[in-house]
Amino acid sequence: MRREIIAGNWKMNNLTSEVETFFKDFGALSADTKRQVIVAPAYPYLKTAGELARECGIELAAQDLYPQPEGAFTGMIGSKMLKDLGVSAVIIGHSERRHILHEPLDLIREKVRFAQEEGFHLIFCVGETLEERQSGEMLNVLTTQITSAFDNNLTAAPEMVTIAYEPVWAIGTGVVATPEQAEEMHSFIRKLITEKYGYGDSRILYGGSVKPNNINGLISLEDIDGALVGGASLKAESFRALVNA
Ligand code: PEP
Repeated sequence: MRREIIAGNWKMNNLTSEVETFFKDFGALSADTKRQVIVAPAYPYLKTAGELARECGIELAAQDLYPQPEGAFTGMIGSKMLKDLGVSAVIIGHSERRHILHEPLDLIREKVRFAQEEGFHLIFCVGETLEERQSGEMLNVLTTQITSAFDNNLTAAPEMVTIAYEPVWAIGTGVVATPEQAEEMHSFIRKLITEKYGYGDSRILYGGSVKPNNINGLISLEDIDGALVGGASLKAESFRALVNA
């Protein structure tokens, strides 16, 4: 049985007062879920968020991880700091890091290795651009993103390795993948990770313009085990609606 996950990625949003309001409001709304709930605030707010999140039964994630424990790495955040702040999960390979920061596949692979070695729940993002979809390349793109990170590099238990399928054309655009499009990609990923690595029990989340009014059509599908949510995770009311959906 794969426990569903609803994870919020706040990206470069939510200042101190908004973080405090989020958890106050989230805690006040009625809870109705067996799902694992995770929130990834920006680094400067992990401490404030962590203390409040625990009271709401929410786990804390970081939006990235530099693959070193500590040391002379200007501007980076490594595993010791994240553990010190109570972080249990890390998002690696988000499309904004792949495409805006041009994060290379070998660095992503090293982060995947290190996150597992350090005992974090790995939330590994993959997804094709619109051009890649239109040229029919999307399955090859997913295969490259997954195999370049996972081949001879998986050491954690399957439940500590989660994949988020996030088509780049659906992120922050309001254009959500249809259930048919999402399920096609999710079942492809499930087959790949089952046959190649024996990780069929890992969870596969969908991400890309998930909202309270479209989540049910997605997570009711066989190979979709939850959602990674950007915009709709920023406010308590919509995030609670997603968690309870
Ligand atoms: C994301 O960036 O992970 C994401 C899915 O964003 P949004 O929900 O805003 O499309």
